[in-house]
Amino acid sequence: MRLLCSNDDGVLATGLACLERAASPLGEVFVVAPDREQSATSHSLTLHHPLRPVQLGPRRWQVDGTPTDCVMLAIEALMPDRPDFVLSGINHGPNMGEDVLYSGTVAAAMEGLALGVPSIAVSFAGRQGAGSAMDLDQHVEPLCALLRHLTSLPAFPPDTLLNVNIPPVPAQEIRGIKLTRLGRRVFSDSIARMTDPWGKPIFWIGGGSVTWTEGAGTDIDAVRGGYVSVTPLHLDITHQARLEDAAKWWIDP
Ligand SMILES: [Mg+2]
Repeated sequence: MRLLCSNDDGVLATGLACLERAASPLGEVFVVAPDREQSATSHSLTLHHPLRPVQLGPRRWQVDGTPTDCVMLAIEALMPDRPDFVLSGINHGPNMGEDVLYSGTVAAAMEGLALGVPSIAVSFAGRQGAGSAMDLDQHVEPLCALLRHLTSLPAFPPDTLLNVNIPPVPAQEIRGIKLTRLGRRVFSDSIARMTDPWGKPIFWIGGGSVTWTEGAGTDIDAVRGGYVSVTPLHLDITHQARLEDAAKWWIDP
């Protein structure tokens, strides 16, 4: 099995190294990842300048582009053969609810799916790195087991990517795996107004507080309960139920 690993935290991220370790017992791992952090770049594609991949070692490249660029380049140009799976992550932070609309981690998996490759995005739903007592290493072995299971399903669900969130608890305290739907959340005070050194107003998006609208069966509900959340996503965001209502929007003249 050939596995393409990418991420949005950059090629040097701890989470990517952990994903590689979780994936390597399952097959041949290729890494094509951004040369710097690209979190919240969503599904953006670089059109206005060329990309210059740098080969860092066998089956390993960094790209001066977005996660979507990396997956597209990997599958269509860099890898000798198409991968059997695209794996993205482990993101340093959760990707639940509306996060999936902004996430570069999820977008890398979306790009894999758009190119016809089954894909799995993995995020650690807590802080990782400086200031955190949580150590991602302990999640490598359970993640390997989960990936082994998902990649050996007799029929990986078609037109589907799996969005996995690992709860921020020690690995031995994880209570199991739950299949979930996306939750909803509300941001408060997430735009900070400041002034630049010349006294002009500037705005910094980020921070503030997040309120989750929890509900049974959501990703946030599972993660708060100490479960690994697995949410099936697809690319078609057509509001199927509204299509029927829409027939009533037109009134015959
Ligand atoms: Mg990230």
